[in-house]
Formats: sequence, C-alpha cells, structure tokens
Amino acid sequence: MNPWIAKAVVLVATAVMMAIRAPHGHRSRSVKVAKNHKTPLETGLLVLAWVGFFIPLIWVASPAFWFAEYRLRTGPLVAGVMCFVIGLWLFYRSHADLGTNWSITLEVREGHRLITQGVYRGVRHPMYSALALYAVGQALVIPNWVAGLSNLVAFAVLIALRLGAEERMMAQQFGNEYAAYTARTKRLIPHVW
Ligand code: SAH
Repeated sequence: MNPWIAKAVVLVATAVMMAIRAPHGHRSRSVKVAKNHKTPLETGLLVLAWVGFFIPLIWVASPAFWFAEYRLRTGPLVAGVMCFVIGLWLFYRSHADLGTNWSITLEVREGHRLITQGVYRGVRHPMYSALALYAVGQALVIPNWVAGLSNLVAFAVLIALRLGAEERMMAQQFGNEYAAYTARTKRLIPHVW
C-alpha cells in the first residue's frame, strides 16, 4: 500500500491533536502558577516528548529514515486509525474536564481543584492514556521502525519517570482527598492498572 496514505493519516492526526491543545496552551498562560514542581529531569522529559513528537513529522516531510522503512499493510493501518480516533477523543475530553487546572508540566495553579469527574472518574491520568493510544496509533500506522516507534519510546520514558512525581505533588497538594481518589481509581487503564 502507498505510504502516502499513512503520511496523510499522521498529518491529519497531528493537526487534530494540535487544534485540541492550542486553546488550552493559550488559556493556561493567563492562570497564575501557585507552586512550580518543575525539575531539570522534568525539563529533559519535555524535550524528549517534543523530539518523539517531531520525528514522525520529519518522516512525513523527508526521506531521512529511508533505511528503516517497511511495507504498509491494511490491518495495522486500520487498527492504528482506530487508536488515533479513540486517543484523540480521550485527549479532547481530558482537556475539557481538566479545564484551567491543566499544565504542560508539574505545577499547581492558583485556585487549583482536584478533578475526579468525567474521564477522571475511573482513571487518574486519562490524558496520558490518550497520549499512549496516540503513540500506539503511530507505531501501527507508520511503516518505519524509527519514526513509528519514536513517540512510543519517548512516552514510555515520560510515564516511567513522571507519573510518581506527579502523584506525589497531587498528594502533597490535596492530602486525604487525593488519597481517597487514588484508592478508588486506576492510573491509566480502567480496572487494570
Ligand atoms: N496526569 C493527568 C494530567 C496531565 S496534565 C492526565 O493524564 O490526565 C498535568 C497537570 O495536571 C499536573 O501538573 C497537575 O497540576 C494537573 N493534574 C493532574 N491530575 C489532576 C486532577 N485529577 N485534577 C486536577 N489537576 C490535575
């Protein structure tokens, strides 16, 4: 199958993701940060996430990763598109539920509220679940070992190194309320983990 189909799918998914995030990025600048928990490690993780996000776009625009190309098949393409659709829906819903409490990094905003409703009812990190689905979608859609796996690897590192720090920050901020929320929810996958 023509890899341009995969390139078109990746471009559309990227555009939708950026369109969902853009108003929140804009709005978050107007809500003051009360406590910044950003460490050098956190800065490194953000850079890694950006690199993982951009490599697929380099693949779309240039033959840079020609050596890692393989044949595109219908099954993985369709499965990947489904991951994109569900992932982007969840990405949209988690931004809507988190509202002005959202930050790109670890920080507590002025008037920060603990959100436990909507897509936050069953899992504590639905936005990361959405990004994980998106990364799996890329791995399935992009017929290239480098560009297909870049986001998944970057995201796995981010989850492994950020989740604990984020939960400690939330526990420090919300105390018993967060402990009760943790007791009745899972991290990323409803009923599983
Ligand atoms: N980990 C969450 C949120 C990602 S955005 C998710 O995957 O859905 C990261 C910021 O969101 C953190 O810095 C924290 O300030 C905020 N945050 C995380 N969980 C929250 C919650 N349940 N309620 C309110 N704010 C939350």
